[in-house]
Amino acid sequence: MAKLRKGKGKVGFVPTMGALHEGHLTLVRHARSVSDVVAVSIFVNPLQFAPTEDLDRYPRQEAADLALLQEAGCDIVYLPTPDVLYPKGFVSRIEMAGPALGLESDFRPQFFSGVATVVSKLFNQVRPDIAVFGEKDFQQLAVIRAMVRDFDMDIDIVGYPTVREKDGLALSSRNAYLSAEERVVAPKLKAALDRIRGVAKDGGDTNRAIAEAGDDLIDTGFDKIDYIALRDADTLGEITPDTKAARLLAAVWLGTTRLIDNIAV
Ligand code: AMP
Repeated sequence: MAKLRKGKGKVGFVPTMGALHEGHLTLVRHARSVSDVVAVSIFVNPLQFAPTEDLDRYPRQEAADLALLQEAGCDIVYLPTPDVLYPKGFVSRIEMAGPALGLESDFRPQFFSGVATVVSKLFNQVRPDIAVFGEKDFQQLAVIRAMVRDFDMDIDIVGYPTVREKDGLALSSRNAYLSAEERVVAPKLKAALDRIRGVAKDGGDTNRAIAEAGDDLIDTGFDKIDYIALRDADTLGEITPDTKAARLLAAVWLGTTRLIDNIAV
C-alpha cells in the first residue's frame, strides 16, 4: 500500500463487509470522485457479532463483489482473513462512550467496540486520506467520527446519504434474508419514519407518534421493535435546547431479519 500510494495523491477508502449492493457502490463511486486511488476492504468482522448473531450466515459473494468493484472504479481490494487481522495473541479493543452509548449498543453491546477496533486497524493498514461511510449506519458514522477525532487520526471522514429502493427500503446486504412476503412489508419501516417526521415538523407529539408507529409496524407484520428514537444528530444523545439537528433512528425485526434505518428530522 505504501508503495502504491507514493506520489499518487489522495487515497480514498471504503470499508465493507461485502455482499455489495448499489449502496456500497455509490460510496465507492463517491470515493472515486474525491480521491486519486480508491481502496475497498471486504471483511466480515467476527469482533462485531455476538455468538447469537448472523456471522455464519452473513452473505458472502466474493467473485461477484470483485466484478462490481472493478466496474465502480476501485483500484485496490483488500480481503483480509480473520487470522490476518486478529492473529493469535491479539488482545486489544477500542471501547467508546459518547455516540456509542444507547440505541444499537442497548441491543448489540459488543458492536461498536468491534467496529471501532477493526476500522482503526484497517485505517492503520490502508492509511487513507479520506474514508467514506454510509449514513445508513448513522450511529456507526458518529462513532467513527468520534474515534478519528479522539485519536488524532488524520483522515477525512465523509458521510454519504442512504441509497434506497424505489419503495423506500434502505439497501442492505441483510435484505437478502427477507422472504418475498417480508420484502413487501419491509418498506413500511421507512414510511413509518416519514410519518413521525411529519408529526415532528408540525410540532405534534413525537413520543406518541413513535409509540403509534411501533404499534402499526407490529400490526402490519413486524415482529419486534428494538428502538425507534428521535435523537440529537451530533451527539446521538437526547434532544436538548442546544440540539441543532435531530435524527430519527430505528431498528426493527421482520422475521429473523433485523432492519435498521434513519432519517433527518
Ligand atoms: P456494510 O457492508 O454493511 O458494513 O457497509 C459498508 C458501508 O456501506 C458502511 O459505511 C455502510 O453505512 C454503507 N452502506 C450500507 N448500506 C448502505 C446504503 N443503503 N446506502 C449508503 N451506504 C450504505
